[in-house]
Amino acid sequence: MTTVPEIGTRGLHKLRSAKVTVVGVGGVGSSISYYLAQSGIGHLRLIDQDIVEPSNLHRLQGLDQSDLYHPKAEALADSLQRLVPSSRFEAVVDTLRSANVSELLGGSDVIVDGLDNFRTRFILNRHSVRTSTPYVFTSAVQNQGHVGVFSPPETACLGCRFDGVIDGPQDSCETLGVTPVITGLVGAVAAGETVKLILALSSNELGRLITIDTLTSDFILTSIAKREDCKTCGPPQVPEEESKGEILGELCGGKTFNVISRLNDVDLFRASSLVPESSILTSTRSVLVFRKGSVTVSLFKSGRVLVYGVEDREEALRIAGDATSLGAKPVSAIPS
Ligand SMILES: [Zn+2]
Repeated sequence: MTTVPEIGTRGLHKLRSAKVTVVGVGGVGSSISYYLAQSGIGHLRLIDQDIVEPSNLHRLQGLDQSDLYHPKAEALADSLQRLVPSSRFEAVVDTLRSANVSELLGGSDVIVDGLDNFRTRFILNRHSVRTSTPYVFTSAVQNQGHVGVFSPPETACLGCRFDGVIDGPQDSCETLGVTPVITGLVGAVAAGETVKLILALSSNELGRLITIDTLTSDFILTSIAKREDCKTCGPPQVPEEESKGEILGELCGGKTFNVISRLNDVDLFRASSLVPESSILTSTRSVLVFRKGSVTVSLFKSGRVLVYGVEDREEALRIAGDATSLGAKPVSAIPS
């Protein structure tokens, strides 16, 4: 194999010993992961809370029909492991929150964002600032995407540019649509920037935001100034947000709810034995997906439940409560 001059044999070794975490492996995140795997990153951790659905399969790079209803992170890790057997691909099927951010992102050389919401991006950004870990931000909607490269404290952080942005359902990729071309392109650019960060190659993008528009064929670079009054990277830093408010989240699409239950370990075998076999869509080591009327329920081993196709939070909470009770482990007697 011939390496390009900027990488060389030493660069390949650096990439092999690097650990990168990709948070969110939907359209953009699966593309980022594919190019990082093919670039020879030695350890790739893939974090995603969601499962593969017929409505998003077309933009998930590396996945096919046989992956339907499997957790995205696991399906992608398995696919990339077949592609690059010598690297390590680690799947984490969970929701990134303030309470677990240090555990899930710890030890990463670079954090890459394939997310679809700012609420989670801000948690990621605070971790990036607190630990001085470089952070590659991405977003993609319709024909337009963004990639930003932040390396605090040398550069601005995400909060310097997007402070106060609140996710609205009208801005989501499910409402506005997104093309596989822009998710693929944004993912490829973000992977390229990640490789440059690991190799310590200079980049025009460092501390800047690139806007890519496939309709107008534009690549526009804008600088992001470090803001003295930034709530995240400016003094004094705000303490980590409490995780108490993150009980229930509404995902891309508006009719899907992510419910985090009090249980942290569910017996999926027991749960699957209590659900009619004809209703089960898939059953893996980490998730049981089944239909309940017109609603699809994903019960994760961690106790989290995704409820698809409900109208309101109350209905989602009720269905999630029923689902976790299926897998609640009976209280065992204390051995004498
Ligand atoms: Zn900042």
